[in-house]
Amino acid sequence: MKISVIGTGYVGLVTGTCLAETGNEVLCIDINEEKVKQMQEGIVPIYEPHLDVLFERNIKAQRLKFSTSLEEGIEHGDIIFLALPTPEDEDGSADLSYVLGAAKDIGKLIREYKVIVDKSTVPVGTADKVTEVMAKETNVDFDVVSNPEFLREGFAVDDFLKPERIVIGSSSERATALMQKLYKPFVRSGNPIIVMDEKSAELTKYAANSFLATKITFMNEIANFCEKVGADVDMVRRGMGTDSRIGKRFLFPGIGYGGSCFPKDVKALHKSGKDSDYTFDILNSVISVNNTQKTILIPKIESYYNNDINGKTFAVWGLAFKPETDDIREAPSIYMMEKLLAGGAKLNVFDPEAMPNIKRKFGDTLNYANNMYDATKDVDALIICTEWSIFRTPDFNKLKKNMNRPVIFDGRNLYDIQEMKGEGFYYNSIGRVTVK
Ligand code: NAD
Repeated sequence: MKISVIGTGYVGLVTGTCLAETGNEVLCIDINEEKVKQMQEGIVPIYEPHLDVLFERNIKAQRLKFSTSLEEGIEHGDIIFLALPTPEDEDGSADLSYVLGAAKDIGKLIREYKVIVDKSTVPVGTADKVTEVMAKETNVDFDVVSNPEFLREGFAVDDFLKPERIVIGSSSERATALMQKLYKPFVRSGNPIIVMDEKSAELTKYAANSFLATKITFMNEIANFCEKVGADVDMVRRGMGTDSRIGKRFLFPGIGYGGSCFPKDVKALHKSGKDSDYTFDILNSVISVNNTQKTILIPKIESYYNNDINGKTFAVWGLAFKPETDDIREAPSIYMMEKLLAGGAKLNVFDPEAMPNIKRKFGDTLNYANNMYDATKDVDALIICTEWSIFRTPDFNKLKKNMNRPVIFDGRNLYDIQEMKGEGFYYNSIGRVTVK
């Protein structure tokens, strides 16, 4: 099939590449000229594990091409995916200007029947709005489908190639049949393609993300309470997670959720509720708890230094909002570092992939280390913000030699409490006893 993807970011590029992998002819469109030039030269502009191999293979096979021309994109694809940003607007709602702007342009350029697929995360009713905007510009027949994306950054290729489910929101039989044909190779193991109306599909994505944000936030509150009463959240988590109604996943407490999806999606669903005279009390609490959780280590650090961190030097390990990505959008590390800098601390930072993005944001206010150990030279404490695998089994002796004092504040509970007792560190983590 001939496919166009408008917007070639984390979702669009993975979608385009994986659809090319199953034999489709894919044209990816982006307004960012530099990005398109890079991709035309065979460079993957983001870090996403395993993407490079598929990217290269499909470019070589001439199934994956790139352009800045929307006109070319509209002419090429029988199915046109919109994988455009839907960032948070000032009032918490999803900013639909990219999606509706593209809809208007597509309406002007469309010459024959096309299926427009909304892969961006959008509020209930957006498919209707896209239809309305396009219909004002053209008399040509088209269908708008809602097809929310559930991939996780860091596992995006695997998630796209082997999805647990595919949701298609459409009231058109013709469009649904085309979508089912396109996705058939991805569900050979028997996972479902769930067809529903557009509004339910749009809400499914927000409900899923808000539920996951709620689950992790609930666990963060349990962890905070554990600290007050001397319980161990690791034990509580294991005790709870073995109940199959609860499940083991997404119960790891830490310094809050971040990223380009959960924060904005929870707020957008909350705002959608408000717009329909419905108050999502639970989401109100999730937003507020997570705001506090992002900097939950700060009072602990301040208290350790008698409320004076001025002139102290800290190592920060992990800057991306989660491991296996270079994405720093809404990363808890950013909120932590801003507070530490405001208190007069100096920061030596290290992340395996996110350093260039952090450098663009923080400039020379931070010291950028070449590796995780260099970051710890002559520091007063190590602060861990992201659970990259390489931080899980460090050489503690090397750390002790490097650091002024053996002090670790761990926002991701990377180390075993019993083991840390023998290592000679002051070790403060989330929801567990402090090792002194
Ligand atoms: P992104 O910011 O990484 O990429 C968006 C791309 O669109 C950028 O390359 C940008 O240059 C391009 N763009 C902007 N305006 C354009 C235009 N008019 N024409 C062509 N290209 C244009 O965004 P993303 O993370 O891929 O997210 C896209 C959508 O998918 C959002 O709605 C997001 O909520 C949703 N989503 C994201 C994820 C994720 O993990 N990142 C997962 C599921 C769903």
